[in-house]
Amino acid sequence: VPELPEVETIRSRLAPAMAGRCLMRVAILDSRLTRPEPPHSIAGELRGQHVSDVSRRGKYLVVRFESGLHLLVHLRMTGTLLHVPHGARSVDPYRRAVVTLDDGSDVVYRDVRRFGTWQLVRKEELDAFWSGRLGPEPLGPAFTSARLADALSGRRAPIKSVVLDQRMVAGLGNIYADEALWRARLHPLRAAGTLAPEEVARLLRAVRSSLSAGIERQGATLRDYRDPTGAPGRMQEALRVYGRTGEPCPRCGTPIEKIHVGGRGTWYCPRCQKPGS
Ligand SMILES: [Zn+2]
Repeated sequence: VPELPEVETIRSRLAPAMAGRCLMRVAILDSRLTRPEPPHSIAGELRGQHVSDVSRRGKYLVVRFESGLHLLVHLRMTGTLLHVPHGARSVDPYRRAVVTLDDGSDVVYRDVRRFGTWQLVRKEELDAFWSGRLGPEPLGPAFTSARLADALSGRRAPIKSVVLDQRMVAGLGNIYADEALWRARLHPLRAAGTLAPEEVARLLRAVRSSLSAGIERQGATLRDYRDPTGAPGRMQEALRVYGRTGEPCPRCGTPIEKIHVGGRGTWYCPRCQKPGS
């Protein structure tokens, strides 16, 4: 499942390929991608648009056009974007959309499970769109210990569930949440409101370092994730706890355990991450 580091890797590869280009042809092959809007109307609006840049907000990829229109792509479970020579991958059964650029190359959206979304938002609607959905960018200056402490205060929910809430901080998913809690030595079931100030500061640094590690290794390929050239990431080799049931904790050697928190599989070290207060 693509999280911030995977989407950021895709962004960094797609941006140079798309910036300054015109969308010559747009074929949306799956109506689930754009619903409730009909695919032909989204395709019609995209056709002829000139790309200014490709950015990211949380787990959304944002293609900004000179017209002020923004295409927000959310990859959800299994979405991927590939940049390929024109006509490549035309027999792929999971191909859901194809955008042909004016240099003749194709940007292909593929999605096995079809939960991904494409939405068009105008410049003047963008702030309102984000403000209801996303908290601060974890790698940006707005994500501070004071702000995080404020957001956690009084919360009785497990810290793992709280950091997965995109309105708390944008871009964390199951993998990097577990990695961050291990780095911060915090038990995933710890009530969020009980964190002491130094634990909040540790959590903030841990969120940043686990995401940065993921970006450095071009994301984690556990199943479907690929970058736009089709290459897998390397973060899966550097995960400390996620998916490592029974393997030794890299810090203390204690076997990693798996529990469920809010319905999500959760890995942690029972020695480094004590239940606490
Ligand atoms: Zn340990």
